[in-house]
Order: sequence, then C-alpha cells, then structure tokens
Amino acid sequence: MKKILSVKNLSVSFETYKAEVKAVRDVSFDLHEKETLAIVGESGSGKSVTAQSVMRLVPMPPGKFVGGSIIFDGEELIDKSEKQMESIRGKEIGMIFQDPMTSLNPTMTIGKQIAEGLIKHQNMSKKDAHARGIELLKQVGIPNPEKRINQYPHEFSGGMRQRAMIAIALACNPKILIADEPTTALDVTIQAQILDLMKQLQEETGTAIILITHDLGVVANSAHRVAVMYGGKIVETGSVEEIFYNPKHPYTWGLLGSMPKLDQHDEKLKAIPGSPPDLADPPKGCPFAARCPFAMKVCGEHMPEHYELSDTQKTACWLLHEGAPKVEPPEFVNV
Ligand code: SF4
Ligand code: MG
Repeated sequence: MKKILSVKNLSVSFETYKAEVKAVRDVSFDLHEKETLAIVGESGSGKSVTAQSVMRLVPMPPGKFVGGSIIFDGEELIDKSEKQMESIRGKEIGMIFQDPMTSLNPTMTIGKQIAEGLIKHQNMSKKDAHARGIELLKQVGIPNPEKRINQYPHEFSGGMRQRAMIAIALACNPKILIADEPTTALDVTIQAQILDLMKQLQEETGTAIILITHDLGVVANSAHRVAVMYGGKIVETGSVEEIFYNPKHPYTWGLLGSMPKLDQHDEKLKAIPGSPPDLADPPKGCPFAARCPFAMKVCGEHMPEHYELSDTQKTACWLLHEGAPKVEPPEFVNV
C-alpha cells in the first residue's frame, strides 16, 4: 500500500512562562492508503499535539517545531505557509474532534457548513453543493437528509452531530481523516455505530485514518495498526494483533490491564499506579521508568532504542536488549 504520510523525528514544544514543555519528542510513524492507524495514550501523552501538528493546527507561539519532518503525499508540511495549509486542510486532510458542538458553527445550518468546503475547494456551485450535502448526509446515515440539511447543529443529537462532522470532513474526499477522540463524548452504542460508519466509509473511499484515543477498547475493531504514546514519545508500534496478543512494552501491558473485559464484570480494573512524567522536565531515560514495575538502572539513565521485533512491531524498552533479564508479561495481558 502506498505511503501517504511519513512523520519523522517530530518534536514539538510549548513555551510557558516557566519552562519549555516538550509535548512531542522524536515521534516517527508512517500512514498508508486505506489504513487506520490508532494513536493511543493517556491524556497529556502527546497524541493530540501529534495530530494537530500534521494539520499544522498547533498554535505557534506558544507552540514550536523543534525538529523533524512531516511528509504528506511527497511534500514537507512543516515548510508550508498558512495559506498553503488552508488549501490542504479540509481538502486533503480532514479532521473530526471529540465534541462536534465546539467545532460545528452553531449559527450556520448543517447544509451551509458542508457546502463551505465544496464551494471553496472544489469550485462547486451553491446548488450542486447543496445536492452533494444531501448525498453526504445520506451516506453517513442521517435519516431525512432533505429536511436535516436545513437544520442547525442544536437540532441534532450528539451522535447525529458527529455524523454530520464526518460528512463535513469527508466532503472533499480527503486522503487522510484525523479523528481525535471522535466517540469519547458519546454513549457506548452510538460509539460503536460511529466507529462502524468510519470503517465503512473508509472501505468506500479509501481514506487513510489516524484515530486518536485514550481507550484501547475502541482500537480492536477499528484500527489496522496501533502506536502507543507515553510521555510525548511513541513507546510501541504494531499491528492490532501484535499490540493485543504479543505486546512487549510494560506500558502497553498496563493499558491492556486497565481495559474492561467482557467476561470479568466483577474484577477490579488494574489502573497503572503513579502519574505521567512532567514534560517540562522529562526524564533522561525511559519515560515510563518511574511507574514501570520492571525498571532497571539503565532505564532511568538512557532512552531505550526502538527494537524491531517484526516488519510492523517496534518497541522502545530495555527489556528487549539481549542482556536484559527475561520478564513474563502479567497474566492479564493474555486477552
Ligand atoms: Fe520499564 Fe525499563 Fe522498559 Fe522503560 S525501558 S518500560 S522502565 S523496563
Ligand atoms: Mg487530546
């Protein structure tokens, strides 16, 4: 499959009056056509900043690119002017957010908001954009689209608003759709419907998806590959199967252990004790060292390299060094 996005050694910081917060540190990943890559991590792990960097939506200042590159369809995005980015955003790369209420314009009908991109990026007439809007609403499963298209966001339910956001994001057939916690604000049934819808639309359009989530549970049925972020870094990448059935990073083990399982209603979830590192003063070595039950001396002193375990799995943990003690993953990992 063709590579559509290549992020290499990306580092992004925020200048605060006290310190420089190193939100994203040396992050690298690829995205291919028709692929869904999930970026998973706790809040503050750098996953949203990574996604916003691809859209060049990180406010600068206080944000700044410290290094690295973002190659989209053969072109470096970091060098693009704001004007050039405006023609990429919405057209080539679409984005949907957790709360459609904050990203939809409350004073404009849903139809106008879909039409905006079509008129701007595809030179459509108002009439054609309206007709395409009806088609798109139908495609995302909104009943009665001829009537709905003239309504305002507050007349839609939460799930419908998220569907409308997806329609807006997909209006111009973007090559990449970035979905940042797209279902977090929705109840479980609607969540599943929205994730299914994204999957179905991907099959129809071929759009590559970056799915940002704190919830490993939504990843299993929605993603092809997973990147696990912790403390501003990617600590493990793998296919969905590798991450769920053969994870090698203790933080991935922790995430799996804190995931509710269908057959274990009464068992308490094993939350990972401790809190994430302070990115104003990130640890010199492994970012997870302070919380890792397997931490060794080297972990606090040196950043582990990414060990390549397969064509798709890469894990940054000293336990994979040939001289490290053999450690068995906790029992609960065998899901
Ligand atoms: Fe734990 Fe060390 Fe591996 Fe980090 S490098 S996850 S501290 S064992
Ligand atoms: Mg976020």
